[in-house]
Amino acid sequence: MTLQQQVSLQSFNTFGIDAQADYFTAAHSLTEAIEALQWAKAHQQPVLILGGGSNVLLMQDVRGLVLQVSLKGIERLAEDEDTVRLRVGAGEPWHPFVLHCVAQNWGGIENLSLIPGTVGAAPIQNIGAYGVEIKEVLESVEVLDCQDFSLHTFSNAACAFGYRDSIFKQTAQGKYLITAVTFVLQKKPVLHLTYGAIQQTLEAMQVTHPTIQDVSRAVCHIRSTKLPNPQEIGNAGSFFKNPEIDLAHYEQLKTVFPAMPSYAVANPAKVKVPAGWLIEQAGWKGVRQGNVGVHKDQALVLVNYGGAQGSEIVALASQVQAAVRAKFEIDLTPEINYI
Ligand SMILES: Cc1cc2nc3c(=O)[nH]c(=O)nc-3n(C[C@H](O)[C@H](O)[C@H](O)COP(=O)(O)OP(=O)(O)OC[C@H]3O[C@@H](n4cnc5c(N)ncnc54)[C@H](O)[C@@H]3O)c2cc1C
Repeated sequence: MTLQQQVSLQSFNTFGIDAQADYFTAAHSLTEAIEALQWAKAHQQPVLILGGGSNVLLMQDVRGLVLQVSLKGIERLAEDEDTVRLRVGAGEPWHPFVLHCVAQNWGGIENLSLIPGTVGAAPIQNIGAYGVEIKEVLESVEVLDCQDFSLHTFSNAACAFGYRDSIFKQTAQGKYLITAVTFVLQKKPVLHLTYGAIQQTLEAMQVTHPTIQDVSRAVCHIRSTKLPNPQEIGNAGSFFKNPEIDLAHYEQLKTVFPAMPSYAVANPAKVKVPAGWLIEQAGWKGVRQGNVGVHKDQALVLVNYGGAQGSEIVALASQVQAAVRAKFEIDLTPEINYI
């Protein structure tokens, strides 16, 4: 284990916040992960587990040990005519893993192309995009208990997946280090084209019989034109979840705001409303306050124009939440993890 002291985390979080970690190490194997956790326990240091840092907001310097998960490897466990089972190290970067599968014509995650971060963090908030969530292809999650270093496997059902949610954000929060994820992908893929602008983009690309490669390319094209690139401007993607509100509340709002968009959800008594639309209507799209702001094209994305402290983002987020609450009586919940 290589332990560094007083390490800037600026290049380890996509917001580009320059917080310091007391100690930092990267675990490339299970042995290194256990060694790091044992060291932290022996020295009574708190541990922050980090993947690609694309879903965290560092509010201040991080006390204790930052443990970056870098366990690699894509292992083909089984295969038949229809499916392939893959066990993937938690530290594999997500998008290159998607491209690897797309190139083999293994379908199921092509709509999740170009999402930043690692494979190990993907189950934590059940990553989703363009009508697909990781829970649809995930078989199990392998974890290391951070206290007693025992190994466990969570089945898909045990992960209690929900919208941008899982047991790892609820009762199991902070208890486990995810070491590997097993997926079942389809060799005769079923395409999901109805969500967002995928169909239109495929038409513009003059694709009449799309493959998963085409879908992945279309998703990458949409995302790179729509979302700010963290390498150019610090951000963590969608800052808030799209709120689910009671149908009665929605119908009452609709009389005042007839253009208010909505999506049906599994529970017929609820409706999902796009948080970006609410923020824009509350007058916050494009607003800049010093080093931070609400992106000019994507109201759901808060940005660091450079040199921001995490506390500036927190203050901006609170004002946005208050404005949406005042106008719509809707509470926005952050999607990202405040550290
Ligand atoms: C431009 C942009 C676009 C995005 N688009 C989407 C999108 O379309 N859909 C979507 O769902 N998300 C999206 N995200 C959010 C983000 O990419 C995902 O949440 C991603 O899964 C985070 O991975 P990460 O490795 O960066 O996690 P990190 O930010 O490093 O960590 C996130 C949380 O998981 C914990 N954690 C990380 N790895 C492990 C591990 N191995 N074991 C235990 N705990 C761990 C951390 O402690 C932290 O609490 C976007 C982000 C950005 C910047």
